[in-house]
Amino acid sequence: MQYLHFKSAALRPAREKISSMMDLPAYERDPYLQQLSAEVIATGELDGRGYALLSASIFYPEGGGQPADHGWIGDSEVVDVQKHEGEIRHFLSETVEPGPVQLRLDWRRRYDHMQQHSAQHLISALAADRFGWKTTSFHLSEGLCDIELDVASLEPRQIGELEEAIAVEVRAARPITARRVAPEALKTLSVRTRGLPAGHSGTVRLVEIEGLDLNTCAGTHVASTAELESVKLLHSESMRGGTRLYWLAGNRVRQRLGQREGLIETLRHLVGAADADLPEVIAGKLAQLKEEGRRARYLEGQLAERLGQALATEAGEGVASRHFPAARPSLLQQVGRAFAAQARDGAALLTADTEGGAFFLLALGAECPLDLKAAGSHVAQLLAGRGGGSGSIFQGKAGSLERREEAAAWLQRAVSEPPR
Ligand SMILES: [Zn+2]
Repeated sequence: MQYLHFKSAALRPAREKISSMMDLPAYERDPYLQQLSAEVIATGELDGRGYALLSASIFYPEGGGQPADHGWIGDSEVVDVQKHEGEIRHFLSETVEPGPVQLRLDWRRRYDHMQQHSAQHLISALAADRFGWKTTSFHLSEGLCDIELDVASLEPRQIGELEEAIAVEVRAARPITARRVAPEALKTLSVRTRGLPAGHSGTVRLVEIEGLDLNTCAGTHVASTAELESVKLLHSESMRGGTRLYWLAGNRVRQRLGQREGLIETLRHLVGAADADLPEVIAGKLAQLKEEGRRARYLEGQLAERLGQALATEAGEGVASRHFPAARPSLLQQVGRAFAAQARDGAALLTADTEGGAFFLLALGAECPLDLKAAGSHVAQLLAGRGGGSGSIFQGKAGSLERREEAAAWLQRAVSEPPR
């Protein structure tokens, strides 16, 4: 394939009606420019957010899947950059005055975007040319990057083959360049494009990976595939008839590898096993936990049955009360049910401190003269809580258990002198 390629503005044919280099935003002219002296020419406000217009800008406005640049205009932080009807609005943390200013780019953020964005061009080009998978969308988010491919599914083997093809082209250190051409030139060039945005006018920007790809794009890119360092394809998922492929490039590969290493080290210490044994050891411990849980539930059931019996005997025609310093509501419910099944005239007030706060339960024997809802509501009120009940059990959350004994004494009186 033969592409037009101009090494410098001086070599560009005049008849192409290309806007002069100086008309282009500085971020487009030189994506490596990190500082610039410029002038604030106007300020404005949109939805309570102040913005500045500059005589020249190194800040890329959000677009084409690439997030906005951040940085500083003087001492004021640039928190967002948006293009609106030809002007570039720099949204700021603090207002600035019109006049000369120094611009500084958040270079870590921008270079990360340049790496991810350029990697997307390379991945999409190879996926289309070597495997026939066309890219239908691209997401550059804070975590993982992804592209959507028009293929129903991807096997791990296919992902591995694409990753290997990408690595070959990273090692080849292919130059990545950008230039503007007249829209008519698109007809004669082999350009991979999903079409120009609606209402586009003027020149078209092309980004080329030498020998591999020629694409319409307004974003910022690294100068060589070597600057991608490495591209790691992670996993894919089928969606809307296509496949979403997750990946990372450059600094993000190193960052993620570092994070994962830290995570594995934590697990290694927690579990006390070597990396290779972690899955088996953790699976074993989970199975053991499940078995212990089953045993604990069985023993709790046995305990609740005995406690219910003992409380029924203790209550007789009166009230028995117990506080459990640490118990799940389910244990109190089991004890309450066992009590209700065994007791005749008596009542039981059970309270517990649980992980979710204090809990209370009132259980009545089959022939207890108390009205469940009236007695339960009064207990709930004394315990600064609320609850509900039916049959022989009233239960709920307690705001405080301080008046627990008072509640038990009140129940005792109510049981012995039922209202006529
Ligand atoms: Zn691009």
